[in-house]
Amino acid sequence: MEVKTEVIILKSWKSKEYNRIYSIYSKEFGKMLISALGVRKMKAKLASSLEPLTESELFLVKCRSLDRVKGAITLKPYLKIKRNLDALLLSKGTIEILDKLVEFDLRSQEIFLALKDFLRFLDKLSTSAANFEQTPAKLAQLSFFWKVIFYSGYFPRLNHCIFCQQKITEKDFYDFYISQGISCGCQKRNDFKFKLHKNTIKLIKFFVSQDISAVAKIKIGNKDLLNLKQFTKINLERILDKKVVI
Ligand SMILES: [Zn+2]
Repeated sequence: MEVKTEVIILKSWKSKEYNRIYSIYSKEFGKMLISALGVRKMKAKLASSLEPLTESELFLVKCRSLDRVKGAITLKPYLKIKRNLDALLLSKGTIEILDKLVEFDLRSQEIFLALKDFLRFLDKLSTSAANFEQTPAKLAQLSFFWKVIFYSGYFPRLNHCIFCQQKITEKDFYDFYISQGISCGCQKRNDFKFKLHKNTIKLIKFFVSQDISAVAKIKIGNKDLLNLKQFTKINLERILDKKVVI
């Protein structure tokens, strides 16, 4: 049986002498591992459609182990990203984390569309001499992570206090207890807690509800960006249970 699917290639590695295994994110099936035979032997047309960071349409043959690529059409090669070192590093780092973050059985079209939007946005940005550590590239990356966290079901509880269950009333900083959520201040504990700024909460709620064109218009100060980056990092580390560099 053969299936057609729209995918973004995340990464690949060698298998046997001439074959490769690919981790891909498919619009229809979510994250998958697939194999391609002979791609390393010839300068196969297939090989360019299967390069990491490429958007392609794949024709897959169902196999007992991994599905095998029978045909491929490149939809978008993201060449501008590939030719801009900063953009390339940012996208590779993002894809690396995405690959670890999503489970194989999670079929989320929203994640696929968010990834596509993120790469298209970076590709467009790559023509200018943008500094990729600054906004809006960094905001685009952070907003993408929050969409993935949200659609994977890992979004932290931010509306109610984890101790007294009361609705959180607005103040500048909240105590965020990793793996549990925020406290209104009714109890003090000595576990490690993060000082979460109210603007960070507003931003991540905005990220999951808006597309990248709206995110690109946001202007934020350095303090807000720092709090947002740190909060994103501790949440990625909470989910992956390992250190993350973003
Ligand atoms: Zn409370």
